[in-house]
Amino acid sequence: MTATLITGIAELVTNDSSWSAAGQAPDVARLGIVTDAAVLVEAGEVVWVGPASAAPQADSRVDVGGCAVMPGFVDSHTHLVFAGDRAAEFAARMAGTAYDGGGIATTVAATRGATDDELRTLLAARIAELRRQGTTTVEIKSGYGLSVEDELRLLRLAREVTPHVTFLGAHVVPAEYAADRAAYLDLVTGPMLAAVVAQGAATYVDVFCEPLSAHAFTEDEARVILRAGRAAGLAVRVHGNQLGPGPGVRLACELGAVSVDHCTYLSDADVAALAETGTVATLLPGVEFSTRHPYPDARRLLDAGVAVALATDCNPGTCYTSSMPFVIALAVRELRMTPAEALYAATAGSARTLGLRGRIAVGEPADLTVLDAPSYLHLAYRPGVPLASTLKV
Ligand SMILES: [Zn+2]
Repeated sequence: MTATLITGIAELVTNDSSWSAAGQAPDVARLGIVTDAAVLVEAGEVVWVGPASAAPQADSRVDVGGCAVMPGFVDSHTHLVFAGDRAAEFAARMAGTAYDGGGIATTVAATRGATDDELRTLLAARIAELRRQGTTTVEIKSGYGLSVEDELRLLRLAREVTPHVTFLGAHVVPAEYAADRAAYLDLVTGPMLAAVVAQGAATYVDVFCEPLSAHAFTEDEARVILRAGRAAGLAVRVHGNQLGPGPGVRLACELGAVSVDHCTYLSDADVAALAETGTVATLLPGVEFSTRHPYPDARRLLDAGVAVALATDCNPGTCYTSSMPFVIALAVRELRMTPAEALYAATAGSARTLGLRGRIAVGEPADLTVLDAPSYLHLAYRPGVPLASTLKV
C-alpha cells in the first residue's frame, strides 16, 4: 500500500476543534486550523495529520506549494439529473415575471424525453464541473420524472455517481394529475415509493412543501408523503419555507428530518423548533440570488444555536450554479455569516445531513480540496475567481 504525504500546506482547515488555539474566536476555533501542515493519505483514507515538521516518512509526496487545504465541499442539495435548460425563464424573471414553481413542468417534459445515455452525459459534465470547483461529495434528488418508471430511472442514474440519493417524487404535481391531486399522492405513496424501496434506489425522501405554489404540496399532503417514506425506511429531508412563511420547517422538525432546506421565511417558533430538534437548516442563497428573493436570515439561526448548512440547490430553474465557492461568498456577503461559519456550513454542516463528518482527521476519507491561495479567507475575499479544486492524491 502506498502512503502519500501532502506537504506545502500553508493553512490546513481540519474542522477538528482539537487543533484550535487559545484566544481564537469560536467560529475560527471550530475550523481546527493547522499552519505549515502535512497530511498523510493511504488507500483513500487520512492516516496522519499535523505540523509538517513532525510529518512521518512516506512513499511519495505531493507538494501543494503554499496553498490552503480544507475538507472537500459537501453539496447536500442538488437536482443534477435533468435535460434542457430554462435560460429564457431566467431572463423573464429578471425582467419581472414572478417565480411560482410552474417552470418545473418544462424540465419534466425535457427529462422524460431524453434517453438514459443523454441524461448520463449531461450528469457527468455537471459532476465534473462541480469537482473542478472543490466539491467532493454531492447529494442528488430525483423529481423531474414524476412517473414510477421515470423517477426510478433518475434515481438509478444518480446512484451511478453518488451514494447520496433522494426520492423527490413529490417535487410538483405533474400536469396529467392536475385535476386529481389525490390520485398523484396515492401514486407517490403507493407504487412509486414501493418500487423505490424495493430497488434500494434512495436513502432519503423529500417533498416540495410550499402552500404558496399551486404546483407544490400542502402541509397535509407533505405529511402523508413524508410519513410514508419514513415508514418505508427512508430518512426525511424537506423543501420548506422558500416562497413565504409556511409549515415546512415545523413539519420537518415534527418528523425528525435530517434537514429542512431553503428556510427563507421563518417564524420565531420555527427557529426554536430547529434549535430544539437538531434538524439542520440548509440555506441555499444561490436561489435567492437567481430569483431576486430576500435572503434567509442566517444570523438569527446561528445566534439561536441552529445547525446551519450551505448547498447549491443546483437545478435548471431557480439556481443553475454548481459552485460551492460562489455559495460561500454569498453567505458571507449577503447572509452575514463569517468566512469561518460559511466554510464550516459548506463542509461539516452539510456533511452532517448526509451522515458524514466533513473533517480531515485520522480514519476519515481523504476528500480534500485545495485552494490556490494561502488561506480559506480567499473563498469569499476573491469571489468568482476559480481558486478551489479537489485534490487528487
Ligand atoms: Zn431543491
